[in-house]
Amino acid sequence: MERKQRLRIAIQKSGRLTEDSLDLLQRCGLKYSRGKDQLMCYGENMPLDVLFVRDDDIPDLVQEDVCDLGIVGINVIDEKRLAMSARGTEPGFELVQRMDFGRCRLSIAVPDDFAYKGLPSIAGRRIATTYPNTLARFLRENSLEAEIVTLSGAVEIAPRLGRADLICDLVSTGSTLSANHLREVTTVLESEAALIRTPVPLPDEKADWVRRLLLRIDGVQQVRESKYIMLHAPRSALEEIRKLLPGSESPTVIPLEGPGNKVAIHAVCRENVFWETLESLKAAGASAVLVLPVEKMLA
Ligand code: ATP
Ligand code: ZN
Repeated sequence: MERKQRLRIAIQKSGRLTEDSLDLLQRCGLKYSRGKDQLMCYGENMPLDVLFVRDDDIPDLVQEDVCDLGIVGINVIDEKRLAMSARGTEPGFELVQRMDFGRCRLSIAVPDDFAYKGLPSIAGRRIATTYPNTLARFLRENSLEAEIVTLSGAVEIAPRLGRADLICDLVSTGSTLSANHLREVTTVLESEAALIRTPVPLPDEKADWVRRLLLRIDGVQQVRESKYIMLHAPRSALEEIRKLLPGSESPTVIPLEGPGNKVAIHAVCRENVFWETLESLKAAGASAVLVLPVEKMLA
């Protein structure tokens, strides 16, 4: 098929989002062969090709219509949007949906010996960051004035080098901060990976594939935590057991042969099923309890 009829999605080439992005596409059913140049993967069973790039380039590639879709952090999306609106332009990409991976936060962190007593302590200070527009918005919203020192990387060593008094950077566990004698004091932005798309209307066939892909992504996100649970119980315990099943809609109830008026209950639980739940189920009269992972789901 010609390029114009195939969808193209940009994902991070090598970094924190790469594995989860590829895993998501594979769970959506994509089989691909990796091109010689390692820059592209060609979908073998769907008209969907994957382009591997630096995460910062993803919004631009979608905006310039080189790719129809992209998976990138909210942090990158927001910074890009704010930078554009500061220049008086509209972004040429749309946020479609947030994903359940790539979670992190953009936070302000101060050196261990910094006397931090709430936000006013950062007024008039120099703050190093690679997210100048997002930080500027935060300062504006909190009526603070401070000097933003825009760097392209290695933000966490800026205070030790004397280039800044504090920093505003991405954090997930905080171990990088403590290794650099910094401590997190406030969150500027909560982030996770998200799917973006071109606002340009797509030809029917491509639009149809985007729709199918979105449904599959929904399905993949729903099954991650879901479990299929099966158990036996006396019919009289049905109500109590139903209340104990976490996040399940209407369970299937099947009468069992034999004496004792027993039923089999089958249900999809949209939350993880913990040992405590199983113990409560047993106490309510359940037996032969089985909990199975759900592989695919289509609402
Ligand atoms: P690239 O070479 O693609 O520009 P990078 O160094 O900008 O790579 P990574 O450090 O791999 O990128 O981070 C990519 C994205 O992963 C971030 O923009 C953010 O959305 C997300 N992320 C999740 N946890 C963290 C974290 N602890 N630190 C930084 N980014 C994180
Ligand atoms: Zn990057």
